[in-house]
Amino acid sequence: MGNPGVEIQYVDTYELTRAGHEVSGQAAIAQFERLLEGLPEQADTTVEWVVKGEMDAFGQRFLRVQVKASPMLECQRCMQPFAWSIDSLNRLQVVNSEADLDAGEAADTDPDDLIERILGSQRLDVLALVEDEVILSLPYVPKHDVCPSLPESLVQEPDTDPARPSPFSVLGQLKKD
Ligand SMILES: [Zn+2]
Repeated sequence: MGNPGVEIQYVDTYELTRAGHEVSGQAAIAQFERLLEGLPEQADTTVEWVVKGEMDAFGQRFLRVQVKASPMLECQRCMQPFAWSIDSLNRLQVVNSEADLDAGEAADTDPDDLIERILGSQRLDVLALVEDEVILSLPYVPKHDVCPSLPESLVQEPDTDPARPSPFSVLGQLKKD
C-alpha cells in the first residue's frame, strides 16, 4: 500500500463554482461505510472522483461530479459476488437555501428537466457527495450479464454434431414412410 497522501474532504462550493475550479481525489472503497452497508466483502479498490465548479451566464452554480468505482455486488441470480463498474457523470445545481432546494419543482415541470440540487456550503463534505453518487449508480437488482457458475448443462452450446440427424429430418423420414 502506498502513502494515502492528503485527501481532500471538504470544498467551498461558492469558491469552486465562482472560479470554475476542479478538485479530484481517490479514496479506498473501504472507507465508504454507507455505501458498503449490505454489500458483500469488497476487493481492495479505490473510488476516484473529480468535482468541477461551473457558473452559467445567469449566475446559476453547478457542480459536475464524475465518479469511478468498482464495488463488489452480489448477483441476484447466482448469489456470487462480482465487480460492478461505475463511471458516472452527474451535474448538480448548487442552491443557496433550503427553500431553493424545492423551488422550481412545479407540477408542469418536465421531469427530464429536473436537476438534482444541493445546498451550497463553504464546507461541503465532498466524500459524502461522492458516496451519494456511487450509491445512486448501483443497480436496483445487480446481476451478471452471464452468470459464470450456472450448472454446465445450462451453459453448453447446443449439440451441433452433424452426424446426428435433427429431429425435424427424422420427422420428415417418418412422414415419407
Ligand atoms: Zn450471477
